[in-house]
Amino acid sequence: MRYRQWVLAALLSAAAPLLNAQPEPGSRDALIAAAKQAAGLDHAGTFRRLCAAPANQYGPPERPPSRSEPPPRDSWYARPYRVFDNLYFIGTRFHSAWALTTSEGIIVIDSVFEYAVEEEMVEGLRALGLDPNDVRYMLISHAHGDHDQGAAIFQRRFGTEIVMGEADWASTLAREGYPGGVPTRDIAVGPDGLDLTLGDTTVHVIATPGHTPGTLSYLFDVEEGGRTLTVMYAGGTAFNFPPSADAFELYRDSMIESAERARAAGATVLMSNHTEFDRAWDRARIAQLRRLPGEPHPYETDVDTVVRYFEMSRDCAEAERMRWE
Ligand SMILES: [Zn+2]
Repeated sequence: MRYRQWVLAALLSAAAPLLNAQPEPGSRDALIAAAKQAAGLDHAGTFRRLCAAPANQYGPPERPPSRSEPPPRDSWYARPYRVFDNLYFIGTRFHSAWALTTSEGIIVIDSVFEYAVEEEMVEGLRALGLDPNDVRYMLISHAHGDHDQGAAIFQRRFGTEIVMGEADWASTLAREGYPGGVPTRDIAVGPDGLDLTLGDTTVHVIATPGHTPGTLSYLFDVEEGGRTLTVMYAGGTAFNFPPSADAFELYRDSMIESAERARAAGATVLMSNHTEFDRAWDRARIAQLRRLPGEPHPYETDVDTVVRYFEMSRDCAEAERMRWE
């Protein structure tokens, strides 16, 4: 018995320095710990992707899947939903596309893969009582297949003007044989961003290079039962670009800018173009439930929660930058 107590005491004293170990301030471990703290329970999906196992950066770069093999419909199809009074979800279970209605027509934010464009976006708009012919602009947050394969389709069929970051136009126009086709150049957004106004609605387009060189993020207002809420929409997330200290520095600085812009605008809603980062599909469905007086909209948080999303992303990017230094 005494021997067992002695072994236990010896083990505990040997482990004590490990149990009490604090990461060295400014180290990668300290940044990751700070990012985990900032993520809390609100941004766990993004923390997991960027900080817990950011190994996707070692994989091959993101490529659009071959048009001949779309995944089974049951794996991606989502019904369309009205989520705010002026914002409608027309995406899949994995990738978001939104219709923002204005007094002069519709602004669509992001597309989905080509195989889902007709059913989710074109038919989705109609099912919600909206007309695809009224889509004046489509904002493309970045030129990857999961967000841009409907651009040429809407441009061709509905006369929609496509808005994209300058650098992402360059890679788009260089394409051949792209699913959905290649759009012709419409509106290019440079480093200073752009205020896009349609009727009574303005979307503040912010250049946030990093995920791609031309990634765009957005600030805009939504209406909810007579209240106005401000949305910060993060346009590019994963670290699946060619890794280097410079690339992560660029990404990190875009997160600093995003945090500042979100705080200055008083954004209380965080949105992303992947449902794994903002739980769009879940929140769109929860938004259909009747709310009791005082119950918040499922997307509504507070400014600090929105800002913490970008502080977490900033710290994860800085931790990677240090690794490649
Ligand atoms: Zn992407």
